[in-house]
Amino acid sequence: MDLIILGAPGSGKGTQGALLSTRLGIPKISTGDLLRAAARDGTPLGVKAKQFMDKGLLVPDEIILGLIGEVLNSPEAAQGVIMDGFPRTLPQAAAVDELLTPLERRVDRVLLIDVAEEALIDRMVKRAEIEGRADDTPATIRRRQEVYREQTAPLIAFYEGRGIVTRVDGLGTIEEIAKRMQAAAAP
Ligand code: AMP
Repeated sequence: MDLIILGAPGSGKGTQGALLSTRLGIPKISTGDLLRAAARDGTPLGVKAKQFMDKGLLVPDEIILGLIGEVLNSPEAAQGVIMDGFPRTLPQAAAVDELLTPLERRVDRVLLIDVAEEALIDRMVKRAEIEGRADDTPATIRRRQEVYREQTAPLIAFYEGRGIVTRVDGLGTIEEIAKRMQAAAAP
């Protein structure tokens, strides 16, 4: 099964993706985690990506498309994958389709975690205090919400056109939301 978790920054994609991964036995792959690791290691890709991440901007598609190819063709992803943080633009969504088709796979379902924007900003400010992420400052938090609205939210209509989007209410305890996610993933 190939699943995409879609949601604004701070909606809980990472936390919920990890729980869903354990419960369904499907690996979760996060482009955000891969990029942060590359930035920490100081690889050429990481150094380039960091310039955009620190500003709250998306890393350009020409960098991300190669990364998505590596992820989807990796042995880890051979039995299906939970995509956390990608695709984030329409060209990335097209790339996912192009990579899955030769593997005789397709995006089975998109789980959209629904949280109002005010609640998101609150959560991210708290997360910034706990995790100290470089891109969790008030200005970048706002920028990332704008970027989501402009560049990533159009994916909702794209996948709704295929009838594969399930909206999950993202307010509640972690466990409440995890149960909703599980029900939505395997209806
Ligand atoms: P995340 O951990 O998913 O919130 O990602 C953190 C940051 O990494 C984002 O704000 C982007 O700068 C970058 N990033 C992660 N995934 C992608 C992607 N699929 N496309 C472009 N940029 C990405």
